[in-house]
Amino acid sequence: MNFRRGDDVIRCSFCGRTAHEVASMVAGPDVYICDRCVRDASAIIRGGGGVIPEPERWTGGAERRRSPTRLRPRLTPADLKGSLDAFVIGQDAAKRALAVAVYSHYKRIDEPEFMPDFEDVELEKSNVLLLGPTGTGKTLLARTLARTLDVPFSIADATALTEAGYVGDDVESILAHLLQSADFNLERAERGIVYIDEIDKIARRGDNPSITRDVSGEGVQQALLKILEGTVAGVPPKGGRKHPEQNLVHVDTRNILFVLGGAFEGLGDIIARRLARSPLGFQDPKGRDAQRAIDPKDPAIFAFAEPDDLVRYGIIPELVGRMPVVTALGALTAPTLRRILTEPRNALVRQYQKLLAMDGVALHFDDDALDAIVERALGLKTGARGLRAVMERTMQDLMYHAADAPGVVRITRETVLDGAAPLREGLRAAG
Ligand code: ADP
Repeated sequence: MNFRRGDDVIRCSFCGRTAHEVASMVAGPDVYICDRCVRDASAIIRGGGGVIPEPERWTGGAERRRSPTRLRPRLTPADLKGSLDAFVIGQDAAKRALAVAVYSHYKRIDEPEFMPDFEDVELEKSNVLLLGPTGTGKTLLARTLARTLDVPFSIADATALTEAGYVGDDVESILAHLLQSADFNLERAERGIVYIDEIDKIARRGDNPSITRDVSGEGVQQALLKILEGTVAGVPPKGGRKHPEQNLVHVDTRNILFVLGGAFEGLGDIIARRLARSPLGFQDPKGRDAQRAIDPKDPAIFAFAEPDDLVRYGIIPELVGRMPVVTALGALTAPTLRRILTEPRNALVRQYQKLLAMDGVALHFDDDALDAIVERALGLKTGARGLRAVMERTMQDLMYHAADAPGVVRITRETVLDGAAPLREGLRAAG
């Protein structure tokens, strides 16, 4: 397969879509056909052949290129948010911000070429920064988005990245993972979503005590900046360091959406200090007194983060500029954690029910057992991640024996808090 770049844009010879607009393109001698046209054509052949349903589409692309109406993004922000709601509990502000950013992002990618009134307006990319404590759903949001949009997704950890020349992964490894998750389909990878976690840990070292890197984070920020703003990066497809003998795949990052996340410990103090200085106080719909009501240690204050705060935290201004959408996730409260246990499509309770159903065990949780799981998880201070830890500990014995003891099993509050045996159908203690 051959993907040309620059002005020499590859178009499907049948419908005129560019390689960026389709999932894949098959090349023949001086001719290309996209996956959609292959599908259409095979439907025609399966249907008895000969009849072309939309003759005007098969014009070598000239018609389509002039059409201003093609390719509206299919999912609206409300659709996107609805889909996030099925997997992520709460975090409404972040969901809305992400949904709008993603909607704009794919509009920009699929921009009609013929918009006479806006000929010279170039749409910029809207990478997103998610601020919020660990375990509150940042990765889950990004992953769910990718799943909804059916685009390749990869996760990177900023702390593992180093500047080229140091031991560690260079930023191209992020793209190598994305390429792998796209099954090496370059076109798909170039429309994917990358989540980069712990971006706060590569902040420039200043007075910030939470930064422990010995290799300067600034170099990594500079390297990230390039792929975030859009570049053609030479990527070793198998990951790892570039070796001269390895063929590099050239990945264009212009249309890759980057979602960055971090807990940004200490940012609350920076925001609070700025707000205290500001003569206007909080521009908060609930009133200016919010200033006193919000504790710098409470992640709710992140909702007031401004680009300057991030710069002060140690993110270089250029990188801040490349993350125009900044949104905050709140700490998870007991009622939210309780919902997370049971409501999402793949809620933990359902997952364990499924696992045990495979052993013939019908698993039930008492209401106060679920409350106890939440209480324990809150104590761990790792957000919803704590739920998993508590659940795993609670279930371990039962799972050890489940294969040999099918039946109905009830998890009680005592099972969670004291390790008491779960109850069997008829209230016998389970073995
Ligand atoms: P982080 O904010 O650190 O990226 P993750 O998104 O990785 O957190 O979440 C950790 C775990 O907790 C995941 O298993 C995820 O399913 C669950 N989780 C976290 N927040 C939520 C939420 N708001 N709704 C549902 N599940 C959540």
